[in-house]
Formats: sequence, structure tokens, C-alpha cells
Amino acid sequence: MPDPITDVDTLFDFLELPDAGRAAARRAAATFGLRVPRSYAERMRRGDVDDPLLRQVLPLADEDAPAPDFVEDAVGDRASAVGDGLLHKYHGRALLITTGACAVHCRYCFRRHFDYAEQHAGGSHARAALARIAADDSIAEVILSGGDPLSLSNTRLGVLGDGLDAITHVRRIRLHTRTPIVQPDRVDDGLLEWIGGRRAHCVVVVHANHPAEISPAVERALVSLRTAGAVLFNQSVLLAGVNDEADTLVALSHRLFESGVIPYYVHLPDRVCGTSHFQVNESRAVALMNAAAARLPGYLMPRFARECAGEDAKRTWGIGATRL
Ligand SMILES: *Cc1c(COP(=O)(O)O)cnc(C)c1O
Ligand code: SF4
Repeated sequence: MPDPITDVDTLFDFLELPDAGRAAARRAAATFGLRVPRSYAERMRRGDVDDPLLRQVLPLADEDAPAPDFVEDAVGDRASAVGDGLLHKYHGRALLITTGACAVHCRYCFRRHFDYAEQHAGGSHARAALARIAADDSIAEVILSGGDPLSLSNTRLGVLGDGLDAITHVRRIRLHTRTPIVQPDRVDDGLLEWIGGRRAHCVVVVHANHPAEISPAVERALVSLRTAGAVLFNQSVLLAGVNDEADTLVALSHRLFESGVIPYYVHLPDRVCGTSHFQVNESRAVALMNAAAARLPGYLMPRFARECAGEDAKRTWGIGATRL
């Protein structure tokens, strides 16, 4: 796999972007580093700072804009951390922070301020996290998250998968990953064997935001995950300037279906500092949801969702809603 682009100048040169943005990009990247897989950058239009893929990864001066009601932990993750990288927020499901690393750094990421050094199930924490899951038979589903669990080697994933398979009350293992979208060659034979070899059912929730992300190589990777036995869903984030058009949402659903993936959630962005320029206002989000629903079969219409700290489930909205 070629090295990802982690340097602002390399990205600007590769995409022939106007020099005017370089200094601001360098400043923003000093706070939250730039990281773009080469194969993802190759899907972007040259010279276009408004490209919807580029916009998700390009550091901007806007990240420093004052936004008083934007906070570091907007979704209450710190309150639901039970230790050893395990977050237990919702009934029956526990989420394991397996690593802090991601294949890509998305500028809107709600975990950009998360303390991964303190809270993850790497190394010696893995065994302790498995023991916590084994001790709580209400946990029917374990979500491997991060960061991105596919940043782990197949060997490390194997240790976690075997450990979870040995806990009989764990019925489903769910991977939350953006890697197949931004770096499809990570979906290798070892990973497909990992999926095919599980006792527990395997669910893979990928994260694509725009139909142009689903290149032919991404489609092949997704289809191979499904063929290996995973049930595939997609979650996306509603992002101003990326996918806040009904046409884009509709096209994304069609592309996902062609790749064997059912649209699951469209998340309204969490109010995390440094990300206010991605917010879509509420009335526009409602209008988009209803416009997309009017054009899609029900099974290709994702649920619009927002996470509200302290509630029993993510909050979702029905078609025809007039406010969120
Ligand atoms: C989103 C989330 C889940 C999964 O919720 P679903 O509605 O089942 O997709 C589980 N645990 C945590 C901590 C979450 O943030
Ligand atoms: S892949 Fe997910 S966790 Fe990683 S930076 Fe992007 S949004 Fe955040």
C-alpha cells in the first residue's frame, strides 16, 4: 500500500490546489493532522477546493472560527466509558475503542478531541476489555470501533475476534469502519477469512458520505465483504458543502445498494469544536430528508439521526417531520 499523504504541500501539489490556502491548511493541520490515502486523493478533481471528497479532509482556517456552543465531547462519550476502552451507552451493545488510528483524518470527526491514549483497548487492555464483556451477559453485540478497527493488523483483529467468539452471549460482532471506502485494498484475504471464520454474526457498518467515494475498487471491496458473510450497512454524516443536496443523498443510496450495502443512518454532525463550518441548519436538514424520501424506495432511505448525550438511543426522525 502506498503511504498516505500527511503533508499539506504534498496534497496541494498533487491536486494542483491554489496556493492561497496553504498557510491556513498548515495551521489547522498542526491541531489535527492531515491524513489522506493516495487512492482516495486520486478520486478528487484536480484544482477544485470544493471537491466533495477533498472538503472532508482539507484543513481550513474555518476550524479556528469561534463557535461558543461547540464542545470537545458533544456526545457524552467520556461519561459512558467504563474502562479499558469500552463504552457502554445503549442496552445490549458495547462499543470497544480498539485503536486511535484511522486510515483517513476527517475534519468533521467527532472524536478529534477524544483521549485515545487513555481510552483504548490496545495491548494489555484487550484482555481486560474482553473480561468486562464476558462478565455482562446483557451484551449481545460488540462494536469494534476506534479510530478505525481496520487500522489493526489481521493478527490483532484475530485475537479480538477469537476472544469475542468465545463469549457465548455475544451474538454479533460489528465493525465500524471507513477504511473500505478510503483505502479498499485493506480488504484483503486475511480480513475476508476473519469475517468468514466467525462464530458470531458479523455486521460491517461502513462510512461513505458521497457517491463519488464509491469507486469500482471500493464497490469490489464491499461486495467481497458481503460475499464473505458480513451484513453491510452505511452511515454517513450530513455535511455542508459535501452531501447537503437531495440529488447527492439519492445517488449515494443507489451506489451503496449496487455495492451490497443498505443505508442506515445519516448523522447530523455533532457540535464538536472545530467543525462548525460543516453544520447544516435544521430546516434544511428536514427539507433534504423529505426530498430524498420522496424519491427513494423505503429500504434505501437512511434514518436521519442525532446523538443526544444521556438518552437511551440515538434520536431519529420520521419522514414528514417538520422539525428535528
Ligand atoms: C452509536 C453507538 C452505538 C450503536 O447504536 P445503534 O443505534 O445500534 O447503531 C453503540 N454504542 C455507542 C457508544 C454508540 O455511540
Ligand atoms: S474515519 Fe471515522 S473516526 Fe476516523 S477521522 Fe474519519 S470520522 Fe473520525
